[in-house]
Amino acid sequence: MKVTSSDIVISAVKPDQYPNTPIPEFALAGRSNVGKSSFINKMINRKNLARTSSKPGKTQTLNFYIINEALHFVDVPGYGYAKVSKTERDAWGRMIETYFTSRDQLRAALLIVDLRHPPTKDDIAMYEFLKHYDLPRIVIATKADKIPKGKWQKHLKVTRQTLNMEKEDELLLFSGETGEGKEQAWGVLKKYM
Ligand code: GDP
Repeated sequence: MKVTSSDIVISAVKPDQYPNTPIPEFALAGRSNVGKSSFINKMINRKNLARTSSKPGKTQTLNFYIINEALHFVDVPGYGYAKVSKTERDAWGRMIETYFTSRDQLRAALLIVDLRHPPTKDDIAMYEFLKHYDLPRIVIATKADKIPKGKWQKHLKVTRQTLNMEKEDELLLFSGETGEGKEQAWGVLKKYM
């Protein structure tokens, strides 16, 4: 897809701040530092619109980005960062639950995982959460540039098996570094728009 415009709309902490428009939305979920911001930046050819985090777990806001006036990417704060208090974790849980269960504009969740390693317990829990609420989900295994091409298929298989993915759910390979998988990802997103 040719991206001609992109901008941040709002960093929201509560639902009344979510953009009040019918624009289709894709939310990115994943572990802190897995590469969510890099995914957004690469998809829209921007170096730094989505903030790539030096302090994982710090952003506790839902960041809405608008692309071509036609869709929103929503960067969701990452999970699995150890140095987060229980209070913060609970607040995170409430925010995620509210967003994912009540947002009509949400077309699909993009679950970002690290292709190099089997999905973590938290990744599995997130996938199960999305399944539980019957939300369309697309799993994106990123950082593909960090392993040799010859091993990609083997790693994708481990990802699919560890998450116990439904057969019909899409699993895409990606690299926020090289842009590998970008056009394929746009192709899949278009089907949901
Ligand atoms: P976020 O916390 O999920 O938004 O993760 P970021 O996008 O901030 O990425 C965390 C770190 O991983 C940064 O240092 C990125 O440069 C790096 N990173 C993200 N995606 C990739 C990728 O596909 N390949 C490589 N080599 N590094 C990546």
